[in-house]
Amino acid sequence: MPSYADIIDSARGHGDVVSFTFDDGPNPADTLRLLDVLREHHVKAVFCLWGDHVEQHPDVVRRIAAAGHTLSNHSMHHDDLSALTPEQIRADLEQASAAIRRAVPHARIPYFRAPFGAWGGSPQVAASLGMRPLGWRLAITDWEPPGTEELARRLLDGVTPGAVVLMHDGGGDRSQTVDAVDQVIPVLKSRGYRFTLPEGC
Ligand SMILES: [Zn+2]
Repeated sequence: MPSYADIIDSARGHGDVVSFTFDDGPNPADTLRLLDVLREHHVKAVFCLWGDHVEQHPDVVRRIAAAGHTLSNHSMHHDDLSALTPEQIRADLEQASAAIRRAVPHARIPYFRAPFGAWGGSPQVAASLGMRPLGWRLAITDWEPPGTEELARRLLDGVTPGAVVLMHDGGGDRSQTVDAVDQVIPVLKSRGYRFTLPEGC
C-alpha cells in the first residue's frame, strides 16, 4: 500500500515531465540569479532549504516564495539524520520549518528532503508533520562542479520522463549549476519536456 511516508521521486503528470529541485540554499549569490533564470524560462521548482541558511538570508527565502516556487524542509543543520532518534529528528525538522515560517509567515512546506539522502527514520517523522519525503531519480553531482558544459551534458543525458532532478543552489559556488540550468531548459522544452512539481502535493 502506498503510504504518506513513501519517498517521492516522480514528477507530476504523464509523459515527458520533469521536476527540478535545488538543495542547500538560500545562497544569495546563486539563488537570486537562479530565480532570474527560472523566471525567464517560466519554470517553477522546489527549493530544499537548509535552516541555518534560512536564518542567515530570510530575505532570499521571501524572494523564492514570492516567485511562486515551492519550499521544502532540508533540516536545520544539514546533519546526518540517520544517526538520530525520531524525537531528535522531529525537533530538528520543527526547528527548520519554524525558521522558514519566520521568514515567510504561513509558508506552505509540503516536502522534506533528508541531507545526504540519509533518510533513517525521517520519512515517518516528516509524514507525521505533514511533509512528503522528497527523493530524486537523477543527481548530477554538482557539489563538485565539473564545468558548466559537463553539468549540462549530465542533465541532457540523464533526464528521463517523470524524473525528479536533484541540483544545488547553496552550500558552495553553484554558478555552474545556474548556467547549466539556463542552457538546458530550452533544450528539454524543444524535446517536448514539460516542467512540473513533484508528485504528492
Ligand atoms: Zn543538502
